[in-house]
Amino acid sequence: MAAGLLLVVSAPSGCGKTTILKQVMRDLPGLVFSVSHTTRKPRPGEIDRVHYHFVETEVFSAIRNRQPTGFLEWAEVHGNMYGTSVEEVERHQGAGHDVVLDIDVQGAAQVRQQAEPVTIFIAPPSLAELERRLRGRGTESEASIALRLNNARKELACSGTYDYLIVNDQLDQAVENLRSIIVAERCRQRRLPDGQRVIRSG
Ligand code: ADP
Ligand code: 5GP
Repeated sequence: MAAGLLLVVSAPSGCGKTTILKQVMRDLPGLVFSVSHTTRKPRPGEIDRVHYHFVETEVFSAIRNRQPTGFLEWAEVHGNMYGTSVEEVERHQGAGHDVVLDIDVQGAAQVRQQAEPVTIFIAPPSLAELERRLRGRGTESEASIALRLNNARKELACSGTYDYLIVNDQLDQAVENLRSIIVAERCRQRRLPDGQRVIRSG
């Protein structure tokens, strides 16, 4: 069995990444979301071990110090620590699933050094629209919105290092674009198990 794809999806906060991923993962079988560890406090409605493993700083540091089996990548984002555990990714990939990593640009760079991910950057149509969406979501304080908009500029500057770029203007189109990218990557010759590479005659 071929190991599953490692799909890295990054976007400035508030761009619509969660909304897009939710729809694609509902429509496309075989995709598993890698649940990250974070020191951030849960937002209303967020469930431990479903949206994140919400941990104290000490627990996060202990996993981080357990290299190379602790985190595949980790980073400080918007003042909190986030990391992808090696165990989580290996378990899903080993079962033949395609694993989605919803991680920031620093994490994406670390994953590229250790694995062969398919990297996808989701961009907002404009910074003004990003701000509208962040405010519309109603989850962030003024300080948090300012921090996220400032970080968005830096993240957008890294978008050229990704394999694919999706501009999330019309939600339906963005969902269809991500779905198409994943379907196409699944058909790549080098990813298919040997037996499926040959078209047999007769
Ligand atoms: P992220 O996961 O990137 O932080 P969310 O998925 O939480 O972003 O989306 C932020 C807000 O923007 C949500 O209120 C969502 O409904 C809205 N949104 C997402 N995509 C679009 C779009 N294409 N057009 C308008 N609003 C959108
Ligand atoms: P949020 O706090 O809004 O859920 O996420 C903030 C940012 O942290 C997003 O850009 C998200 O992609 C990123 N993030 C979430 N999990 C991880 C992770 O495990 N590693 C890294 N590097 N970034 C992450």
